[in-house]
Amino acid sequence: MTFSVHGLPVARGIAIGRAVLVASSRVDVAHYFIESDQVAAEIDRVRMGRNAVVDEIQRLQQDMPKDAPHELTALLDVHLMLLEDETLTLGVKHWITDRLYNAEWALTTQLEIIARQFDEMEDEYLRERKADLEQVVERILRYMKGVASPVSPPSRAREAQRQQDLLLDDTVDVPLVLIAHDLSPADMLQFKQSVFAGFVTDVGGKTSHTAIVARSLDIPAVVGARNASQLVRQDDWVIIDGDAGVVIVDPSAIILAEYGFKQRQVQLERQRLTRLLHTPATTLDGQKVELLANIELPEDADEAVKAGAVGVGLFRSEFLFMGRKALPDEEEQYKAYRRAVEGMKGLPVTIRTVDVGADKPLEKGLKEDAHLNPALGLRAIRWSLADPAMFRTQLRAILRAAAHGPVNLLIPMLAHGSEIRQTLSLLDFARVELDNRGIPYGDLKVGAMIEIPAAALSVKMFLRYFDFLSIGTNDLIQYTLAIDRADESVAHLYDPLHPAVLMLLASTIAECRAQGKGVSVCGEMAGDVAMTRLLLGLGLRSFSMHPTQILAVKQEVLRADAVRLTTWSEEVLAADDPSLVLSLVRP
Ligand code: PEP
Ligand code: MG
Repeated sequence: MTFSVHGLPVARGIAIGRAVLVASSRVDVAHYFIESDQVAAEIDRVRMGRNAVVDEIQRLQQDMPKDAPHELTALLDVHLMLLEDETLTLGVKHWITDRLYNAEWALTTQLEIIARQFDEMEDEYLRERKADLEQVVERILRYMKGVASPVSPPSRAREAQRQQDLLLDDTVDVPLVLIAHDLSPADMLQFKQSVFAGFVTDVGGKTSHTAIVARSLDIPAVVGARNASQLVRQDDWVIIDGDAGVVIVDPSAIILAEYGFKQRQVQLERQRLTRLLHTPATTLDGQKVELLANIELPEDADEAVKAGAVGVGLFRSEFLFMGRKALPDEEEQYKAYRRAVEGMKGLPVTIRTVDVGADKPLEKGLKEDAHLNPALGLRAIRWSLADPAMFRTQLRAILRAAAHGPVNLLIPMLAHGSEIRQTLSLLDFARVELDNRGIPYGDLKVGAMIEIPAAALSVKMFLRYFDFLSIGTNDLIQYTLAIDRADESVAHLYDPLHPAVLMLLASTIAECRAQGKGVSVCGEMAGDVAMTRLLLGLGLRSFSMHPTQILAVKQEVLRADAVRLTTWSEEVLAADDPSLVLSLVRP
């Protein structure tokens, strides 16, 4: 039966495919595809785990005291029965053999399917056996953890190759869409260049980092779809409408045809935009506009150049730190930054120092994140200043990369003059360290993110220290309105057009222009075509966004008259009714 689930639109376009559920098991398991010659070994690993649990239970039964309560022995019998059940074993085999899921992913997927069958049972006693099943599976997973996998999670390159193979394999020609309760930004990154045609998650806001990475993958995505991962079943046909934020499950033939048509329209529109690739971004009245790229990984630079970016306005360096057991050392970071600089072929690269914390956690043990309000805690520059050795390592690596091309250094989440001074003196210290070691490095411009209201309100102080500013609207909105950007339950209040947000944006841009300092916006607002005219009207001439958005924003720039927009944006700023502001922005 067809039904729909509503969430927040994150990445545009239509995806049609079969659902792949990434189960949100209580046990944290890895999800990756294996090679076909690894199938037998993965099945073996599950078998060994299962046999070990059977042995353990049988031992428990033998050692059971004579006067043990009857319920206990009955419970162990149930667990043994569940372990022998073919629905579990054959199901797991199917996911490994036919879908090439790794053993843990296959096991949790099958758990989900059987658990759902239990949920639908009329008999309360049988329904409650779901908890036993979960326990049994968790025990197997625990055993498997001890049994080293002959198949290690793939490197990004291998994964890309593997997925490329999958795409070319004509037995796997149905697009797959990923449905999960939640995906961390690091998980999401694993799926870069993946076979998945779309993503849906239960949680997350429009500018959560998971959503940002999903957008950079340029495939339709919906987040904050509440209980989608409970309602959608493995292999269901699903349509993801990334423009409307709607997920249609088990669609009828008519709906499928309608969305198939819409999908082709979107593709055509994208193709049409490519004609603008080599057109300079200039308004009708001759104002030059700089369209830059936001990247997460060094190799994204290639895509940025292809998309017509005139530089990288934001390289989120924290993605080099996430999803790994140890922090990257100076050499590794230097190579990564150098790769991005060389990839941009002489165009400038703005490297932001590490911004972890809040919804971009590091692996356990590298940084304590168990605070009540992590977004207000030891995040970004605060963490860097709390660990100066780690920070100087990063600064040295960036300075060294600057010897290979134009580099701007960008510091996230500054608010205090003392933080600014500390940062700049650590930068001086890093230069001295390189001098002492006789290692060459380059010049760089130093800029600050304006993403805390306090920073926007003290922009004059910032400009005394920095060469340029970059406005991070994602956090500026979050901190101005006290709305967690990753929380779908307050997503309706996350409003880029709130008069307070617009005022901070306008005054920051105006002050930079008055002082002749560079200013850009690198938050998601810069890539939103509905905001282009307003930002131009506020005087912005530098926009940094996902490479995939560049041509659509360029189209808006080419159609804009900057002088007329300046007068119009004053009206927008003067309006205090958000709905009026909205109608003024989108006349
Ligand atoms: C922002 O806050 O707008 C920004 C660009 O940084 P991030 O999204 O990585 O926090
Ligand atoms: Mg930010």
